[in-house]
Amino acid sequence: MLDQKLQEQIDSFVEKNRNQIVETVRALVQIDSLRGEPLPGAPYGAGPRRALDRALAICKEQGLSVADHEGYCGSAVLPGQEGEIALAAHLDIVPVGEGWSVDPFSATLRDGYIVGRGARDNKGAFAADLYAMLCLRELGVPLRHSLRLIMGCNEETGMKDMEYYLSKNKAPDFTLVTDCSFPVCHGEKGGFSGDIIFPKPARVRRAGGGVARNIVPAQASAEVDCQGLDKERILALAGEAEGICAKMEGDTLTVSAEGISFHAAFPEGSKNAIGHLLRFLCGAGLLEGEDFERGRFLADTLEHYYGETLGIACADAQTGKLTCVGGLLFEENDGLHLNLDIRYPVTASGGEIGKKIAAACKEHGCSFVVTKDDAGTYVPAEHPAVQTLCRVYRELTGSERAPYTMGGGTYARKFPNAVAFGPGDPEEKLPYEPGRGDAHQPDESQNIGILLRSIKIYVAAILELDKIL
Ligand SMILES: [Zn+2]
Repeated sequence: MLDQKLQEQIDSFVEKNRNQIVETVRALVQIDSLRGEPLPGAPYGAGPRRALDRALAICKEQGLSVADHEGYCGSAVLPGQEGEIALAAHLDIVPVGEGWSVDPFSATLRDGYIVGRGARDNKGAFAADLYAMLCLRELGVPLRHSLRLIMGCNEETGMKDMEYYLSKNKAPDFTLVTDCSFPVCHGEKGGFSGDIIFPKPARVRRAGGGVARNIVPAQASAEVDCQGLDKERILALAGEAEGICAKMEGDTLTVSAEGISFHAAFPEGSKNAIGHLLRFLCGAGLLEGEDFERGRFLADTLEHYYGETLGIACADAQTGKLTCVGGLLFEENDGLHLNLDIRYPVTASGGEIGKKIAAACKEHGCSFVVTKDDAGTYVPAEHPAVQTLCRVYRELTGSERAPYTMGGGTYARKFPNAVAFGPGDPEEKLPYEPGRGDAHQPDESQNIGILLRSIKIYVAAILELDKIL
């Protein structure tokens, strides 16, 4: 437990710098740092480069020594005597999408929030990390470890920035990735993705579904040639089926299916619209012969989101069950592609999963191409650093929450000895309807009070980690 005088100093530092902290977040949110075409010194394009320049300039203005790692990422250092603790945040963003009530790059201040793309994910955290370091400098408590703030530019589309950094620089002794919720995320499942490719069914003219690879689709649709079939019966079946909408024009049936959308890492309670569509096409006699067999196999695959149909279901005590979600159906020259987003337990192997899927696909006249296999990470909950972080969080907030693992991925998987630690408050209730205000959503909003509190937690955590690492 920190002594009271130190705690008061930290509180007053944060209070004194409140406006500057908010303006730091706003300055970065105002830069559209979506990935673009690579340019010299800017492997992720002009936007991330501008955000990195700005972040490095802010760190430099505050008297930190900074390094530009060839535009992949940047870092700012507070030197110590031996060893290094890193804080890692990212400056790149996901696309804006639809449905904003403000300009996503205006960094609007509204009711105690900063509203804008990247405000929560992850530019707020960059400011929290920076001000935690500045606070530690001002406290004047000598730290054994150097502190390094690593600011990445490629978190959202591959994390190659951290691979580059680690290929050129010594890995920190311990890394806190500030890109999740408190208290501590100490394990992440592996991330695996691939396309099942299959011939377009004979009667299907067009088929598609989903909006993103990592979201259980809420919508899927197809146009089907019904020549020679009992159209009235088909329309009657569509009328009876829940979540199916159909209309017939001439011989062409346009049919759409509705599902229940969830993030692919948490499919419990979801309903896959692509699977629902395929199930209807099979049941209504619109797929025949091999098309029928394949359609049923794919519908089963999509309904059983723990990978049962593909023979890949597995679980471990550390990170839980494998999840398997088909988020996108789209047409390419070689046929229809069904993309699978799979999150596998840390003790499973992506290579084995790929082989099993390929074998199951072959049996049903489909092929399978792996597009991503990104190993997970796990630090035991008993690790002294995890215990310390949880204790600090408990002392400062009164929360008894236990450390957790998840299906989502952060930079923690790229570093040895890394966990994700805040700055999100797991109790936070956003002042919006569901689907708004959070990371990757319209009106993404960072609560200023939560952000300021996270700085205090980071300062206390680093003081403690410095003693035990
Ligand atoms: Zn993020």
